[in-house]
Amino acid sequence: MTTAARPVATATHCPYCALQCAMTLTPDAQDRLEVTGRDFPTNRGGLCRKGWTAAELLNSAERLHTPLRRRSDGSFTEITWDEALDRTAAAIAGTRRDHGADAVGVFGSGGLTNEKAYQLGKFARVGIGTSRIDYNGRFCMSSAAAAGRRSLGIDRGLPFPVSDLDEADTVLLLGSNVADTMPPFVQHLSGARARGGLIVVDPRRSATANLTRDGQGLHLQPAPGTDMVLLLGLAHVVVHEGLVDEEFVGTRTEGYRALVRSLAAWWPHRVQALTGVPAALLRTTAHRLAQGRAYILTGRGVEQHTDGTDTAAAAINLALLLGLPGSRHGGYGTLTGQGNGQGGREHGQKSDQLPGYRAITDPAARAHVAGVWGVAETSLPGPGLPAVELLASLGRPGGVRCLLVHGSNPAVSAPDVTAVVEGLRRLDFLVVADFVMSETAAEADLVLPVPQWAEEEGTMTTLEGRVVRRRRAGPPPEGVRDELWILAELAARLDSPASFDDDAETVFDELARASAGGPAEYAGIDYRLLEETGGVHWPCPPGSSGTPRLFLESFGHPDGRARFVPVRPAAPLPDTAPDADLTLVTGRLLEHYQSGAQTRRVTELARTRPESRLEIHPATADRLGLADGQWAEVEAAAGTARARVQVSADVRPDTVFLPFHFGGSERANLATRQLTDPVSGMPEFKTTRVRIRPVLEP
Ligand code: SF4
Repeated sequence: MTTAARPVATATHCPYCALQCAMTLTPDAQDRLEVTGRDFPTNRGGLCRKGWTAAELLNSAERLHTPLRRRSDGSFTEITWDEALDRTAAAIAGTRRDHGADAVGVFGSGGLTNEKAYQLGKFARVGIGTSRIDYNGRFCMSSAAAAGRRSLGIDRGLPFPVSDLDEADTVLLLGSNVADTMPPFVQHLSGARARGGLIVVDPRRSATANLTRDGQGLHLQPAPGTDMVLLLGLAHVVVHEGLVDEEFVGTRTEGYRALVRSLAAWWPHRVQALTGVPAALLRTTAHRLAQGRAYILTGRGVEQHTDGTDTAAAAINLALLLGLPGSRHGGYGTLTGQGNGQGGREHGQKSDQLPGYRAITDPAARAHVAGVWGVAETSLPGPGLPAVELLASLGRPGGVRCLLVHGSNPAVSAPDVTAVVEGLRRLDFLVVADFVMSETAAEADLVLPVPQWAEEEGTMTTLEGRVVRRRRAGPPPEGVRDELWILAELAARLDSPASFDDDAETVFDELARASAGGPAEYAGIDYRLLEETGGVHWPCPPGSSGTPRLFLESFGHPDGRARFVPVRPAAPLPDTAPDADLTLVTGRLLEHYQSGAQTRRVTELARTRPESRLEIHPATADRLGLADGQWAEVEAAAGTARARVQVSADVRPDTVFLPFHFGGSERANLATRQLTDPVSGMPEFKTTRVRIRPVLEP
């Protein structure tokens, strides 16, 4: 980076997770940016190891500095931006002409700023005219989002400020390992821990489960895939042991009687038999939730299932029975993972949604957004394909033949990556915009180098729906171009009927207009207000100062009432791997973020955690003849991953754990399948049946 026009210190937020910890970037004597934590309600000055080391990648030798084109011998050659944009536009136009607009696909990211997420959705639908846009948030947030909309009428990860958790007597945390994924969040659990009220549900004794030790709470360790049964059991106890908040249920909900009928069969000893969680512990948890201030929070562990939407609905049902959502004494929320996982799903990257978090099938929403874009409503495409289906269609008849990928690495993060990479290779043309040569970029016909977080202006939306400013601390390296500029240039080459601006603030103002009247309304927010306040919670209609707490008066459905949604567990998934006798749970580590494309390139993080690890229980390791440090194969129906063994009593004897941040043969998603939740499109990442065996070499 050069020193030109760099301010002394820049207040911004972390590039990684949805806590969006505040940080200050200050150039040192060598003109490299130093990171310090900054006081902000989500992190109170704290940062995790990923945040502290985030600036290193800005100066990485692995950064891309010029557009690259694949030659016929498979190697890449440098080309000019004009050539890169001309070739990309020609590929889009040619595919559209020969095969129709839906043969062009766009794959976005929950890591993009709100402005870029919005512009990508607009570019897909107007610049290209395709319905085939979706993003990697489908792997992360889609089940909880679908459940939130169905039950509460609006999906906002936390419908209250994260600092409300400080006052909790009890926090029930299901399937979320915050002590590793977002460590500064743990300070918000200290009140509940001090009162013995942190209750962690996880098949694995994770770092977060360890926070319950010494009387600070409880760890419930159900068998993988039985989360919904556990929640149904808790709701059964609440109903049958007089713990229902009857006034709340009577005045603020619909569907109570049907819910009660659906819970009849889930008595505690049956639930114990199915989950392995003692009935007494179930009762203790239910009674604890019914006292004082209580919060129920879900994470990917209970959501990344083929019945993930219904499992999240079961958690919301439990919270509604206890009168928690929209109250002053508790709540329900889901902990969004990606940096802009919340904003990324609000502005039109999802295959079924338009900006403002509105259904693309809603005639009024279509007319409004078409008006903002200056196009005919009839010209807007309808719903496209959710991510897993979109990726499965690559190069297939009737599927996507030309794909643009922005800020995502599905060759590592998508389920069944063998099939995904085969699909990428079947494409007529693949364009990847990234700042390093990710595993997906390595498959591309054309790679476009883009800026990193400290080199761009924009906004992000935290897990609590708070819109914050991302600020530029310095220019990107020579040769790198911003995605907003790239999209504007491509739109011009494609003779787009709508105009595309490349200034972040101008795009935000348009985004705000497009969101007007929608559930996720930004119409009252502008950069000036964000500068003055440090952050504003949506919905924020014009003249408002934002909405930190949703649902205090009414829920998001037209009648203002929340819905109980009776659910039951799905039938077990078919096992197709021979002799598969263990369940693979994939997840995250403290040192790495998402596909690891960024954090694997940071010295301190790579040194501490250079490779994957397969956590396996000592008794299981003994049975299989596996020793600590030895390499093993994880064989499943979809394929086989490899990792070094870590013998650990933290996992159940019937379960193994593998992080998904690594590349090559260590990709956990070599083993996962393209099975999805029928409501949300969320893939199943938590119950893959596998067989483990020792191997000599990695
Ligand atoms: Fe905070 Fe998440 Fe960044 Fe860690 S990765 S510093 S928890 S925003």
